[in-house]
Amino acid sequence: MSQKEIPSEPENPRREFMQKSLLGASAFAGLSVTSTTHAKVENSQKSLEPEVINEVDILVVGSGSAGTTAAIQAGRAGAKTLLMERNSQLGGTTTTGGVAYPGLFDAWGKQVISGIGWELVKESVELDGGKFPDFSKVPRAHHHNQIHLNQFLYSILAEEKCQEAGVEIAYYEFPTTLTQTENGWQVDCMGFGTKRRVLCKQIVDCTGGAEVVGLLGLERLRGEKRQPGSYLFQIGSSHNPASSQLHRLYVHGADSTNSRTVTFANLTGRKTILAKIRRDKKRLMHLQPETGFRESYRIIGDTVITVQDYTSGRHFEDAVSYAFYPVDLHTRTGVRPKPLKRGIVPTVPLSSLIPKGSKNIIVAGRCISSDRLANSALRVQAACMGMGQAAGATAALAARDKTTPSSVPLEKIHGLLREHNAIVPEKV
Ligand SMILES: Cc1cc2nc3c(=O)[nH]c(=O)nc-3n(C[C@H](O)[C@H](O)[C@H](O)COP(=O)(O)OP(=O)(O)OC[C@H]3O[C@@H](n4cnc5c(N)ncnc54)[C@H](O)[C@@H]3O)c2cc1C
Repeated sequence: MSQKEIPSEPENPRREFMQKSLLGASAFAGLSVTSTTHAKVENSQKSLEPEVINEVDILVVGSGSAGTTAAIQAGRAGAKTLLMERNSQLGGTTTTGGVAYPGLFDAWGKQVISGIGWELVKESVELDGGKFPDFSKVPRAHHHNQIHLNQFLYSILAEEKCQEAGVEIAYYEFPTTLTQTENGWQVDCMGFGTKRRVLCKQIVDCTGGAEVVGLLGLERLRGEKRQPGSYLFQIGSSHNPASSQLHRLYVHGADSTNSRTVTFANLTGRKTILAKIRRDKKRLMHLQPETGFRESYRIIGDTVITVQDYTSGRHFEDAVSYAFYPVDLHTRTGVRPKPLKRGIVPTVPLSSLIPKGSKNIIVAGRCISSDRLANSALRVQAACMGMGQAAGATAALAARDKTTPSSVPLEKIHGLLREHNAIVPEKV
């Protein structure tokens, strides 16, 4: 994060226009297909694969730092859990994006985020023969206490932990339609060759950009200006996982909102890398499969965490986890992290994880209800793991007690979190 970023080529408005035109053209062409052709297409699709029906307590969508932790917590609490991921592995930005430097688990000389996320990170570092920073010491710069992970090992360990917790994993799938039922939700999902219907009591949306909340038509925020994404790669020398940071370049305008914006960001990032290889005449040694996205949609909850709340270390009455990181807003010219004042440790309230006006759905991760500056700090991986565990625990209790996340008593959430080694914010 502290590493200097190389700017990518500016966006090409003409290309964007051409892409839009092409999409328009193909959609228009679709209208001219005869009804007979439609019938044929439908029949051949149906014969591909029978519908899969799952009846579960909890559907977690998205398997980044937040989703993986939420699913393991829900599974360990005894909830029948399905974890759905549109990509090919667990870990999200940590693995598919290659940002394998989770932080920060400690603040001012002591650990403030532990539990399932920490367990996964710790085991991964131990199995890889890596080293840990000394959390009892306050580092000179925050990034000294980030953990260097082997992204490949981390994703396999995460799969093992999910399976041990009884969590079923569905890769290459995503929800398309949601219908409210008497007991929760009917979620129709699509993958290639697979049509799945999930009947669940609770949904945990950990898609990064609150995609499920968006499908439900609930309010979300997305700034006109967004932080750039970054594409991670390595040229000239081989990359030894967990030993050093990968090379990276900014992808301006990167947006994880849909397959078209993700495709555009990936094409832009890779094209710039290719130009760099030609210019520097160095070999390409490592390339992540996808751009890392810093910012897209955030939900609006009953609490919207402001930068004042964050930088003053406001203790929310309904706090469920801690977060700790400088305010870290990337712009076209780079980033200047603004460290927190000594002693400050911000908290994450339950009411910032529940979309306003919703029932039976909770979110965790970078889509947390917060203003843009607070979000630039809250979005980091350890914080996402802390809130992911809290969301998983809340959803499991809501499913068990046949209620909705906002009605689960806070003491019950705290109790379950402590049982699973999470650090719960102390009342001040
Ligand atoms: C370049 C960069 C550098 C960063 N540096 C650091 C750092 O040094 N340390 C740090 O701690 N943090 C860092 N961050 C921030 C941090 O990595 C992310 O904010 C955090 O990982 C987000 O976690 P998440 O679980 O909310 O979402 P993600 O990790 O984005 O996971 C979301 C998952 O949901 C899946 N998904 C999305 N939509 C759907 C759908 N409709 N259906 C099914 N699956 C779906 C995605 O494929 C993805 O796997 C950085 C971020 C970036 C981009």
